[in-house]
Amino acid sequence: MPRIELADRIRNLPPYPFAAIDQARAKAKAEGKDIISLGIGDPDLPTPAFIVEAAREAALDPRTHRYPDYTGRLDYREAAARYMKKRFGAAFDAATEVLALIGSKEGIAHIPLAYINPGDVALVPNPGYPVYAVATNFCGGIVHDMPLRAEHNFTPDLAAIPTEWARRSKLMFLNYPNNPTGAVVSADFLRQAVAFCREFDILLVYDNAYSELAFEGYRPMSIFEIEGARDIAIEMHSLSKSFNMTGWRIGWACGDAAYVGGLGQVKTNVDSGAFDAIQIAGIAALDRHDDPVVRANYEIYGHRRRACEARLREMGIEFLKSPATFYVWCRVPTDETSAAFVSRVLETTGVVFTPGTAFGRAGEGWFRIALTVDEARMTEALARVERLLV
Ligand code: PLP
Repeated sequence: MPRIELADRIRNLPPYPFAAIDQARAKAKAEGKDIISLGIGDPDLPTPAFIVEAAREAALDPRTHRYPDYTGRLDYREAAARYMKKRFGAAFDAATEVLALIGSKEGIAHIPLAYINPGDVALVPNPGYPVYAVATNFCGGIVHDMPLRAEHNFTPDLAAIPTEWARRSKLMFLNYPNNPTGAVVSADFLRQAVAFCREFDILLVYDNAYSELAFEGYRPMSIFEIEGARDIAIEMHSLSKSFNMTGWRIGWACGDAAYVGGLGQVKTNVDSGAFDAIQIAGIAALDRHDDPVVRANYEIYGHRRRACEARLREMGIEFLKSPATFYVWCRVPTDETSAAFVSRVLETTGVVFTPGTAFGRAGEGWFRIALTVDEARMTEALARVERLLV
């Protein structure tokens, strides 16, 4: 019998949102059902071969086998800076304003350790990527939800944040293109967010994990395209979705040297950096971010999205139309809760969706489809759901 109790921060975690789904999925599988998972945002397409080749060559070089630099290889950080300049027109000093991350989740999870004292507040989108709230709670911080509602284009209503809470806030998390809703954002909203954070001295943590996953000419923005952002923002980037590299664990943070340095101090004390060979593969990826081989991947997701949206329309399911991400945010078409609907779909059809409430209370009434299977399987999944709903 284990005799040592878990710490409160773990015991007080809310119930794992995917637990009920995992159970239903295991049961459906045991019954021999053909499971089609549209649940997890993990690209099914492979990493482009030129990136894998760069990693292979680098891994054969014994110089990559030693401890990496805490802040990342300078040549990797230079590649990230080149990308930021070319893609967004934002110049960064690679040596002091760019920090390699072991995936952007790592940076997001660690930034509250640098900035949140017990009792400090973080403004967190709801529904949202769950790490923002959990990482804040781990530091004894208080999460103030910013609901994302359809009538507000799935952006927070900044005017609805009570001044008292804004004054106590140290961090605000924002993420566009957005997981889970797929929403994109206007430059005007980003200007308002920057002005808000400047007024209340809040560090804006801009999660740009889906910056490249856009189609039909839509190009997501960086927060650093907004005037005045430098004083109050840090941006998290990821190679995971941009280059089908979720398993490789590589990203970066950029911003003023003080913010990047704050995060760097946490990291120096808890990890020893990303494998050099993976950073070298990252350089290859970033230097060819506009390559047709890479861009062809986004078009595949775009094509799937259009096909999915067309079927949903035929089925009478309301959804958010979007030019970015591989997520489709849909209204639950019955009077069930999100969790009950998703469980019933899984039990009866073998199709896995994610209930909106897995991303926070404000996700009630919605479910998320991840377009991470090929079009034929996706069409088959929606046909099964359509038969269930008739
Ligand atoms: N931010 C958002 C909104 C995400 O959806 C994810 C992954 O799904 C991440 C960050 C983390 O990505 P990674 O750690 O693979 O860079």
